[in-house]
Amino acid sequence: MFVKKKRAVFFDRDGVILKAVVEDGTPRPPYSIAEYREKSGRMPSAREAVEEVRRLGFLAILASNQPDIRYGKISKEEWQWIQDQIKDIPFDDIFICFHGREDICECKKPKPGMLLEAAKKWNIALPESFLVGDTADDVIAAARAGSRSILFRAEYNASVGADYKISELSKLPGTIS
Ligand SMILES: [Mg+2]
Ligand SMILES: [Zn+2]
Repeated sequence: MFVKKKRAVFFDRDGVILKAVVEDGTPRPPYSIAEYREKSGRMPSAREAVEEVRRLGFLAILASNQPDIRYGKISKEEWQWIQDQIKDIPFDDIFICFHGREDICECKKPKPGMLLEAAKKWNIALPESFLVGDTADDVIAAARAGSRSILFRAEYNASVGADYKISELSKLPGTIS
């Protein structure tokens, strides 16, 4: 029997679902609970955007590089506490690369590994899918997977090109439909 492939929207975490901490013009995740509270937090409309994407018939999948436990910049416990702050957002699946640069894994963006793995697991049509991210690595990962990229605009990514650009998550449903 022919099973119709699903479409998906992949979400980067920091700079999309959570506000990135910007240091010297470069975005990064919060390195502690205190920093999450002071400089990061949830992006406005994060939950609503994921709910709306699912209502439109897409799978909503988090695909995030999180090497900072590996690099010793954050404890496992504080990292988990921060990750738990998005627990109520109804992602269909969550893929996280915990590797560092030296690990030469297949999942760390700009490699497309997390998208390819999700596509296999969920029977996703990658050419009809999107990745929302805030860095060039996100755009490249989307391109390598054969998906379309949506850049979440920020001061630090003004020079990054992408298939689409949005300045707030409430614009996402209109971009993908
Ligand atoms: Mg990011
Ligand atoms: Zn990895």
